Amino acid sequence: PEPRDVIIIGSGPAGLTAAVYTARAALSPLVFEGTAGGGQLMLTTEVENYPGFPEGVQGPALMDQFRKQAERFGTEVLDQPVEKVDFSERPFRPFRVASDGTWHEARAVIVSTGASPRLLGLESEKRFFNRGISSCATCDGAFFKGKEVAVVGGGDSAMEEANFLTRLCSKVTLIHRSENFRASKIMIERARKNPKIAWKTNRAVKEFTGDKKLASVILTDTAAKKDEELKVDGVFIAIGHVPNTSFLREFLAADEAGYLLTGPALALEAAQGKRKADENQMKFWKRHSCATSVPGVFACGDVQDHVYRQAVTAAGSGCMAAIDAERFLESEGH
Ligand code: NDP
Repeated sequence: PEPRDVIIIGSGPAGLTAAVYTARAALSPLVFEGTAGGGQLMLTTEVENYPGFPEGVQGPALMDQFRKQAERFGTEVLDQPVEKVDFSERPFRPFRVASDGTWHEARAVIVSTGASPRLLGLESEKRFFNRGISSCATCDGAFFKGKEVAVVGGGDSAMEEANFLTRLCSKVTLIHRSENFRASKIMIERARKNPKIAWKTNRAVKEFTGDKKLASVILTDTAAKKDEELKVDGVFIAIGHVPNTSFLREFLAADEAGYLLTGPALALEAAQGKRKADENQMKFWKRHSCATSVPGVFACGDVQDHVYRQAVTAAGSGCMAAIDAERFLESEGH
């Protein structure tokens, strides 16, 4: 069969917005939903910061609307993950994407596989997820107004979330497994100066306890090897995210943490002599914010953004990737 115009890998706000736009441009996109169809919003309950919903909206319901809107214009959605890609044979062959043992071909690919919050991996963490435990302060902080919460982690995310939460919560305890912080000095200092933040360093989370909702967290002092109980209404896990790019790394340039590099970052690397590119390629990267290191493959959403990570910014970048892909296909004569 003829290759598709566009294959989209991932079905969160970025992927489905890219689908709405490419479908309306008559490019009949095929979306691979992946293992977490709908993306991270499927893990949240109430979403209060997505514009257009003054009363708030449930994450899964919002993603259902995204999907219906994409399908209305002819998007085909396959409820299966992509196992492998082959982006090597351009410009002589279309891109190839393998799912469920079958190779699918396309002239352009949009990658929107997202990032997964890293979790501690405790059984009790699963039990209280969304029942007091969250992985996103921006999303869920408002549910803990005037309450006592804790943040787990020692990087910039943990500092930022702790600071943010002090605006809403009466007390924020920062729990970190050592005394060495990965966070930048300025972020640590800001947190240290904040009187609402208490510190529990050299503490590993042993368990979460409670009845229907989280009530406390059991910490182990890693030096004294003693356990203690900390009563909290909420715990925010901020120990990093893992971009879902392992199956793409062979083909697409990424940063040290695995996030895909796109247009402006690639152009900057080329200007600094860190990356080979001719003038046309440079121009393309500067004009196509969602272009990856392979011409014809575009990236949007959290897989290329570890800074903003919001549903609305992911959706926005999905629109950008779709427009970039449309222009690429047009320039190739499709
Ligand atoms: P980081 O990888 O920087 O930090 C992760 C933290 O979590 C570390 O302190 C680590 O501890 C801890 N951790 C990891 N795994 C576990 C575990 N299993 N149990 C307990 N603790 C664990 O991730 P961030 O999300 O904080 O930051 C990611 C990137 O985003 C960074 O480059 C950061 O600078 C950037 N960022 C920038 C912001 C800003 O500038 N405003 C805001 C947020 C992020 P340990 O050190 O012991 O391994």
